[in-house]
Amino acid sequence: METKVKSKALHQFQEVTETIINPELKKWMDQGGKVAGYFCNAMPVELITAAGFFPFRIRATGSTSTELSDSYFSSINCSFPRHAFDMALKGEYDFLDALVMFNSCDHIRRVYDHWVRQVKTPFVKILSLPRKAEQPQVEWFRSELNMLRESMQEHFGVEITDDRLREAIALHNKSRRSQRALYDLRKGDNPPITGAEMLAVSVAGTAMPVGVYNKLLQEMLDDISGADGHSNYRARLMVIGGELDNPKYLKAIEDQGGLVVTDALCFGSRMIWEDVDETADDPLTALSRYSIAERPSCARMYTQYPKRLQYIRNMVKDFNVDGVIFERLMFCETWGFEQYSLTQDLKELNIPLLCMDREYTLTAVGQLKTRVQAFLETLGR
Ligand code: SF4
Repeated sequence: METKVKSKALHQFQEVTETIINPELKKWMDQGGKVAGYFCNAMPVELITAAGFFPFRIRATGSTSTELSDSYFSSINCSFPRHAFDMALKGEYDFLDALVMFNSCDHIRRVYDHWVRQVKTPFVKILSLPRKAEQPQVEWFRSELNMLRESMQEHFGVEITDDRLREAIALHNKSRRSQRALYDLRKGDNPPITGAEMLAVSVAGTAMPVGVYNKLLQEMLDDISGADGHSNYRARLMVIGGELDNPKYLKAIEDQGGLVVTDALCFGSRMIWEDVDETADDPLTALSRYSIAERPSCARMYTQYPKRLQYIRNMVKDFNVDGVIFERLMFCETWGFEQYSLTQDLKELNIPLLCMDREYTLTAVGQLKTRVQAFLETLGR
Protein backbone atom coordinates (compact mmCIF):
# COMPACT_ATOMS: atom_id res chain seq x y z
CA MET A 1 0.00 0.00 0.00
CA GLU A 2 1.56 3.31 -1.09
CA THR A 3 2.23 6.10 1.41
CA LYS A 4 -0.17 9.03 1.61
CA VAL A 5 2.07 11.36 3.57
CA LYS A 6 5.14 13.39 2.73
CA SER A 7 7.07 13.53 5.97
CA LYS A 8 10.86 13.72 6.39
CA ALA A 9 10.35 12.63 10.00
CA LEU A 10 8.50 9.46 8.92
CA HIS A 11 11.22 8.73 6.39
CA GLN A 12 13.84 9.09 9.13
CA PHE A 13 11.91 6.71 11.37
CA GLN A 14 11.71 4.16 8.54
CA GLU A 15 15.47 4.37 7.95
CA VAL A 16 16.11 3.72 11.67
CA THR A 17 14.20 0.42 11.48
CA GLU A 18 16.41 -0.88 8.66
CA THR A 19 19.69 -0.96 10.57
CA ILE A 20 21.00 -1.50 14.08
CA ILE A 21 23.33 1.50 14.27
CA ASN A 22 21.44 4.56 13.01
CA PRO A 23 22.79 8.12 12.58
CA GLU A 24 21.30 9.36 15.90
CA LEU A 25 22.83 6.46 17.82
CA LYS A 26 26.18 7.05 16.07
CA LYS A 27 26.06 10.77 16.93
CA TRP A 28 25.28 9.92 20.57
CA MET A 29 28.24 7.51 20.82
CA ASP A 30 30.61 9.87 18.95
CA GLN A 31 29.81 12.45 21.64
CA GLY A 32 30.88 9.92 24.32
CA GLY A 33 27.33 8.87 25.24
CA LYS A 34 26.79 5.41 26.78
CA VAL A 35 24.24 2.88 25.49
CA ALA A 36 22.27 0.33 27.50
CA GLY A 37 20.52 -2.42 25.54
CA TYR A 38 17.43 -4.29 26.73
CA PHE A 39 15.44 -7.20 25.30
CA CYS A 40 11.86 -6.87 26.45
CA ASN A 41 9.35 -3.99 26.70
CA ALA A 42 8.93 -4.77 30.40
CA MET A 43 12.07 -2.67 30.75
CA PRO A 44 11.23 0.78 32.21
CA VAL A 45 13.37 2.78 29.77
CA GLU A 46 13.10 5.75 32.13
CA LEU A 47 15.62 4.12 34.46
CA ILE A 48 18.19 4.00 31.64
CA THR A 49 17.43 7.56 30.49
CA ALA A 50 17.69 8.80 34.10
CA ALA A 51 21.20 7.31 34.25
CA GLY A 52 22.11 9.50 31.27
CA PHE A 53 22.29 6.44 29.00
CA PHE A 54 20.64 5.76 25.62
CA PRO A 55 18.04 2.95 25.97
CA PHE A 56 18.36 0.72 22.91
CA ARG A 57 15.93 -2.17 22.43
CA ILE A 58 17.63 -5.24 21.00
CA ARG A 59 16.53 -6.30 17.52
CA ALA A 60 18.16 -8.63 15.02
CA THR A 61 17.55 -6.38 12.03
CA GLY A 62 19.73 -7.34 9.08
CA SER A 63 20.59 -10.80 10.41
CA THR A 64 20.54 -13.40 7.64
CA SER A 65 21.87 -16.49 9.42
CA THR A 66 22.32 -18.14 12.82
CA GLU A 67 25.47 -20.05 11.91
CA LEU A 68 27.26 -19.05 15.13
CA SER A 69 24.36 -19.12 17.61
CA ASP A 70 23.31 -22.56 16.36
CA SER A 71 26.14 -23.91 18.51
CA TYR A 72 24.28 -22.61 21.56
CA PHE A 73 20.64 -23.01 20.55
CA SER A 74 18.67 -25.81 18.97
CA SER A 75 16.63 -25.24 15.83
CA ILE A 76 13.43 -25.48 17.89
CA ASN A 77 14.33 -22.35 19.81
CA CYS A 78 12.61 -19.09 18.87
CA SER A 79 14.38 -17.50 15.91
CA PHE A 80 14.47 -13.98 17.42
CA PRO A 81 16.91 -14.77 20.27
CA ARG A 82 18.89 -17.03 17.92
CA HIS A 83 19.38 -14.21 15.39
CA ALA A 84 20.01 -11.58 18.08
CA PHE A 85 22.65 -13.71 19.82
CA ASP A 86 24.24 -14.57 16.46
CA MET A 87 24.68 -10.84 15.81
CA ALA A 88 26.19 -10.41 19.28
CA LEU A 89 28.69 -13.22 18.60
CA LYS A 90 29.61 -11.43 15.33
CA GLY A 91 30.37 -8.28 17.36
CA GLU A 92 27.41 -6.25 16.11
CA TYR A 93 26.43 -5.40 19.68
CA ASP A 94 29.93 -4.50 20.83
CA PHE A 95 28.75 -0.86 21.08
CA LEU A 96 26.72 -1.67 24.21
CA ASP A 97 28.02 -0.46 27.56
CA ALA A 98 25.27 -2.33 29.37
CA LEU A 99 22.59 -4.94 28.73
CA VAL A 100 19.49 -5.50 30.86
CA MET A 101 17.50 -8.70 30.45
CA PHE A 102 14.48 -10.39 32.04
CA ASN A 103 13.36 -13.98 32.42
CA SER A 104 10.63 -12.96 29.91
CA CYS A 105 10.70 -16.48 28.43
CA ASP A 106 13.02 -19.51 28.56
CA HIS A 107 14.49 -18.69 25.14
CA ILE A 108 15.55 -15.19 26.24
CA ARG A 109 16.77 -16.46 29.61
CA ARG A 110 19.06 -18.84 27.74
CA VAL A 111 20.47 -15.89 25.78
CA TYR A 112 21.52 -14.39 29.11
CA ASP A 113 23.31 -17.58 30.17
CA HIS A 114 25.38 -17.50 26.97
CA TRP A 115 25.78 -13.72 26.60
CA VAL A 116 27.51 -13.29 29.98
CA ARG A 117 30.05 -15.97 28.96
CA GLN A 118 30.53 -15.29 25.26
CA VAL A 119 30.00 -11.53 24.68
CA LYS A 120 32.18 -8.80 26.22
CA THR A 121 29.45 -6.36 27.31
CA PRO A 122 30.88 -4.57 30.41
CA PHE A 123 27.64 -4.68 32.43
CA VAL A 124 24.97 -7.39 32.01
CA LYS A 125 22.04 -7.89 34.40
CA ILE A 126 19.00 -10.17 34.37
CA LEU A 127 15.99 -9.16 36.44
CA SER A 128 13.21 -11.39 37.72
CA LEU A 129 9.91 -10.44 36.06
CA PRO A 130 6.81 -11.63 37.95
CA ARG A 131 4.01 -13.46 36.12
CA LYS A 132 1.26 -12.02 38.32
CA ALA A 133 0.44 -8.32 38.70
CA GLU A 134 -0.85 -7.84 42.23
CA GLN A 135 0.62 -5.54 44.90
CA PRO A 136 3.20 -8.10 46.16
CA GLN A 137 4.53 -8.46 42.61
CA VAL A 138 4.66 -4.69 42.12
CA GLU A 139 6.79 -4.48 45.30
CA TRP A 140 8.91 -7.41 44.12
CA PHE A 141 9.61 -5.83 40.73
CA ARG A 142 10.31 -2.47 42.40
CA SER A 143 13.07 -4.14 44.45
CA GLU A 144 14.48 -5.70 41.26
CA LEU A 145 14.53 -2.25 39.61
CA ASN A 146 16.15 -0.76 42.68
CA MET A 147 18.90 -3.40 42.57
CA LEU A 148 19.49 -2.43 38.94
CA ARG A 149 19.58 1.26 39.90
CA GLU A 150 22.14 0.64 42.64
CA SER A 151 24.37 -1.62 40.54
CA MET A 152 24.37 0.85 37.62
CA GLN A 153 25.20 3.73 39.98
CA GLU A 154 28.07 1.74 41.47
CA HIS A 155 29.42 0.32 38.18
CA PHE A 156 29.22 3.52 36.10
CA GLY A 157 29.54 6.14 38.86
CA VAL A 158 26.26 7.78 37.88
CA GLU A 159 23.40 9.08 40.03
CA ILE A 160 19.86 7.88 39.27
CA THR A 161 17.91 10.17 41.58
CA ASP A 162 14.12 10.25 41.97
CA ASP A 163 14.08 13.69 40.35
CA ARG A 164 15.94 12.38 37.31
CA LEU A 165 13.47 9.47 37.16
CA ARG A 166 10.57 11.94 37.21
CA GLU A 167 12.14 13.97 34.39
CA ALA A 168 12.62 10.79 32.35
CA ILE A 169 9.02 9.69 33.02
CA ALA A 170 7.74 13.05 31.73
CA LEU A 171 9.88 12.76 28.57
CA HIS A 172 8.81 9.19 27.75
CA ASN A 173 5.16 9.89 28.56
CA LYS A 174 5.34 12.68 25.98
CA SER A 175 6.44 10.09 23.39
CA ARG A 176 3.57 7.81 24.38
CA ARG A 177 1.00 10.60 24.06
CA SER A 178 2.30 11.63 20.62
CA GLN A 179 2.23 8.03 19.43
CA ARG A 180 -1.34 7.63 20.73
CA ALA A 181 -2.24 10.79 18.79
CA LEU A 182 -1.02 9.00 15.64
CA TYR A 183 -3.15 5.97 16.53
CA ASP A 184 -6.20 8.21 17.04
CA LEU A 185 -5.83 9.46 13.43
CA ARG A 186 -6.27 5.83 12.28
CA LYS A 187 -9.74 5.48 13.87
CA GLY A 188 -11.37 7.42 11.02
CA ASP A 189 -12.53 6.06 7.64
CA ASN A 190 -9.40 7.36 5.88
CA PRO A 191 -6.36 6.70 8.08
CA PRO A 192 -3.44 8.90 6.93
CA ILE A 193 -0.77 6.27 7.68
CA THR A 194 -0.48 2.52 7.19
CA GLY A 195 0.23 -0.06 9.86
CA ALA A 196 3.73 -0.57 8.44
CA GLU A 197 4.42 3.16 8.79
CA MET A 198 3.12 3.21 12.37
CA LEU A 199 5.30 0.22 13.32
CA ALA A 200 8.33 2.05 11.89
CA VAL A 201 7.48 5.02 14.12
CA SER A 202 7.18 2.77 17.19
CA VAL A 203 10.34 0.76 16.52
CA ALA A 204 12.33 3.97 15.90
CA GLY A 205 11.23 5.11 19.35
CA THR A 206 13.26 2.25 20.83
CA ALA A 207 16.40 3.23 18.92
CA MET A 208 16.61 7.05 19.18
CA PRO A 209 17.36 9.48 22.05
CA VAL A 210 13.95 10.40 23.52
CA GLY A 211 14.43 14.15 23.06
CA VAL A 212 15.24 13.80 19.34
CA TYR A 213 12.40 11.30 18.93
CA ASN A 214 9.79 13.57 20.55
CA LYS A 215 10.78 16.45 18.27
CA LEU A 216 10.47 14.29 15.14
CA LEU A 217 7.13 12.86 16.31
CA GLN A 218 5.73 16.38 16.57
CA GLU A 219 7.08 17.18 13.12
CA MET A 220 5.37 14.09 11.72
CA LEU A 221 2.07 14.97 13.42
CA ASP A 222 2.30 18.42 11.83
CA ASP A 223 3.20 16.90 8.44
CA ILE A 224 0.20 14.59 8.35
CA SER A 225 -2.48 16.81 9.84
CA GLY A 226 -4.93 17.45 7.01
CA ALA A 227 -3.31 14.85 4.71
CA ASP A 228 -5.65 12.79 2.51
CA GLY A 229 -6.01 9.34 3.99
CA HIS A 230 -6.28 5.82 2.65
CA SER A 231 -9.73 5.01 1.27
CA ASN A 232 -9.03 2.30 -1.28
CA TYR A 233 -8.59 -0.61 1.15
CA ARG A 234 -10.55 -3.89 1.32
CA ALA A 235 -10.69 -4.34 5.10
CA ARG A 236 -9.58 -2.77 8.38
CA LEU A 237 -7.18 -5.11 10.18
CA MET A 238 -5.70 -5.42 13.67
CA VAL A 239 -2.46 -7.34 14.22
CA ILE A 240 -1.79 -9.07 17.55
CA GLY A 241 1.24 -10.94 18.81
CA GLY A 242 4.74 -10.97 20.24
CA GLU A 243 8.05 -9.68 18.98
CA LEU A 244 7.52 -8.05 15.55
CA ASP A 245 9.97 -5.25 14.68
CA ASN A 246 9.98 -5.46 10.87
CA PRO A 247 7.52 -3.06 9.13
CA LYS A 248 8.02 -5.06 5.92
CA TYR A 249 5.94 -7.87 7.45
CA LEU A 250 2.96 -5.53 7.83
CA LYS A 251 3.60 -4.07 4.37
CA ALA A 252 3.35 -7.57 2.89
CA ILE A 253 -0.07 -7.89 4.56
CA GLU A 254 -1.20 -4.42 3.49
CA ASP A 255 -0.07 -4.96 -0.12
CA GLN A 256 -2.93 -7.50 -0.34
CA GLY A 257 -5.43 -4.68 0.21
CA GLY A 258 -6.10 -4.85 3.97
CA LEU A 259 -5.16 -1.73 5.97
CA VAL A 260 -3.71 -2.35 9.44
CA VAL A 261 -5.46 0.32 11.53
CA THR A 262 -4.27 -0.84 14.97
CA ASP A 263 -2.39 -3.56 16.81
CA ALA A 264 -1.61 -5.22 20.14
CA LEU A 265 2.08 -5.82 19.47
CA CYS A 266 4.97 -5.62 21.95
CA PHE A 267 6.75 -3.14 19.64
CA GLY A 268 3.40 -1.38 19.10
CA SER A 269 0.42 -0.17 21.13
CA ARG A 270 1.25 -2.34 24.17
CA MET A 271 4.32 -0.12 24.77
CA ILE A 272 2.42 3.18 24.76
CA TRP A 273 -1.27 2.76 25.56
CA GLU A 274 -0.94 4.01 29.13
CA ASP A 275 1.23 6.67 30.78
CA VAL A 276 3.44 6.14 33.80
CA ASP A 277 1.89 7.91 36.82
CA GLU A 278 3.73 11.26 37.03
CA THR A 279 2.12 12.17 40.38
CA ALA A 280 3.36 9.15 42.36
CA ASP A 281 5.48 9.88 45.46
CA ASP A 282 7.87 7.07 44.53
CA PRO A 283 8.78 7.06 40.80
CA LEU A 284 10.35 3.59 41.00
CA THR A 285 7.10 2.09 42.31
CA ALA A 286 5.23 3.96 39.56
CA LEU A 287 7.55 2.40 36.97
CA SER A 288 7.13 -1.05 38.49
CA ARG A 289 3.34 -0.76 38.60
CA TYR A 290 3.30 0.54 35.00
CA SER A 291 5.51 -2.26 33.65
CA ILE A 292 3.71 -5.23 35.14
CA ALA A 293 0.18 -4.08 36.02
CA GLU A 294 -0.98 -0.97 34.13
CA ARG A 295 0.16 -1.16 30.51
CA PRO A 296 -1.40 -3.83 28.22
CA SER A 297 0.44 -6.96 29.24
CA CYS A 298 2.43 -9.66 27.48
CA ALA A 299 0.97 -13.15 27.10
CA ARG A 300 3.43 -14.38 29.72
CA MET A 301 1.22 -12.68 32.34
CA TYR A 302 -1.29 -15.56 32.36
CA THR A 303 -3.60 -14.12 35.04
CA GLN A 304 -4.11 -11.00 32.92
CA TYR A 305 -5.63 -12.75 29.89
CA PRO A 306 -9.18 -11.41 30.55
CA LYS A 307 -7.76 -7.84 30.64
CA ARG A 308 -5.92 -8.44 27.36
CA LEU A 309 -9.06 -9.85 25.73
CA GLN A 310 -11.01 -6.75 26.82
CA TYR A 311 -8.21 -4.56 25.42
CA ILE A 312 -8.54 -6.33 22.05
CA ARG A 313 -12.35 -5.99 22.12
CA ASN A 314 -12.04 -2.25 22.83
CA MET A 315 -9.54 -1.84 19.99
CA VAL A 316 -11.77 -3.75 17.56
CA LYS A 317 -14.68 -1.45 18.45
CA ASP A 318 -12.75 1.85 18.62
CA PHE A 319 -10.86 1.27 15.34
CA ASN A 320 -13.84 -0.37 13.58
CA VAL A 321 -11.77 -3.48 12.82
CA ASP A 322 -13.10 -6.07 10.34
CA GLY A 323 -10.59 -8.82 11.05
CA VAL A 324 -7.71 -9.76 13.34
CA ILE A 325 -4.38 -11.28 12.31
CA PHE A 326 -2.47 -13.11 15.05
CA GLU A 327 1.26 -13.52 14.38
CA ARG A 328 3.57 -15.75 16.39
CA LEU A 329 7.22 -16.67 16.11
CA MET A 330 7.62 -20.41 15.63
CA PHE A 331 8.22 -22.36 18.87
CA CYS A 332 7.04 -19.46 21.06
CA GLU A 333 5.08 -21.17 23.82
CA THR A 334 4.14 -17.89 25.48
CA TRP A 335 2.10 -16.73 22.50
CA GLY A 336 1.12 -20.29 21.65
CA PHE A 337 -1.08 -20.47 24.75
CA GLU A 338 -2.53 -17.05 23.92
CA GLN A 339 -3.33 -18.16 20.37
CA TYR A 340 -5.38 -21.11 21.69
CA SER A 341 -7.44 -18.93 24.07
CA LEU A 342 -7.95 -16.14 21.52
CA THR A 343 -9.08 -18.57 18.83
CA GLN A 344 -11.88 -19.72 21.12
CA ASP A 345 -12.91 -16.31 22.44
CA LEU A 346 -12.76 -14.29 19.21
CA LYS A 347 -14.85 -16.98 17.52
CA GLU A 348 -17.52 -16.60 20.21
CA LEU A 349 -17.35 -12.82 19.69
CA ASN A 350 -17.71 -13.24 15.91
CA ILE A 351 -14.41 -11.47 15.31
CA PRO A 352 -12.72 -13.04 12.27
CA LEU A 353 -9.20 -14.28 13.09
CA LEU A 354 -6.26 -15.45 10.97
CA CYS A 355 -3.37 -17.09 12.85
CA MET A 356 0.07 -17.12 11.27
CA ASP A 357 3.33 -18.60 12.50
CA ARG A 358 6.50 -17.01 11.17
CA GLU A 359 10.28 -16.87 11.37
CA TYR A 360 12.05 -13.77 12.66
CA THR A 361 13.47 -13.05 9.20
CA LEU A 362 10.90 -12.28 6.51
CA THR A 363 10.52 -15.64 4.76
CA ALA A 364 7.64 -17.49 3.04
CA VAL A 365 6.20 -14.16 1.84
CA GLY A 366 4.29 -15.91 -0.94
CA GLN A 367 2.47 -18.10 1.57
CA LEU A 368 1.80 -15.06 3.76
CA LYS A 369 0.24 -13.17 0.83
CA THR A 370 -1.92 -16.14 -0.23
CA ARG A 371 -3.28 -16.64 3.27
CA VAL A 372 -4.01 -12.92 3.74
CA GLN A 373 -5.77 -12.73 0.36
CA ALA A 374 -7.96 -15.71 1.35
CA PHE A 375 -8.70 -14.07 4.70
CA LEU A 376 -9.71 -10.79 3.02
CA GLU A 377 -12.04 -12.80 0.78
CA THR A 378 -13.77 -14.20 3.87
CA LEU A 379 -14.23 -10.68 5.23
CA GLY A 380 -16.30 -10.02 2.10
CA ARG A 381 -15.31 -6.41 1.47
S1 SF4 B 1 8.64 -14.35 20.68
FE1 SF4 B 1 8.14 -15.74 22.35
S2 SF4 B 1 9.79 -17.23 22.46
FE2 SF4 B 1 10.47 -15.52 21.20
S3 SF4 B 1 11.54 -14.20 22.60
FE3 SF4 B 1 9.45 -13.45 22.54
S4 SF4 B 1 8.34 -14.50 24.17
FE4 SF4 B 1 10.30 -15.58 23.84
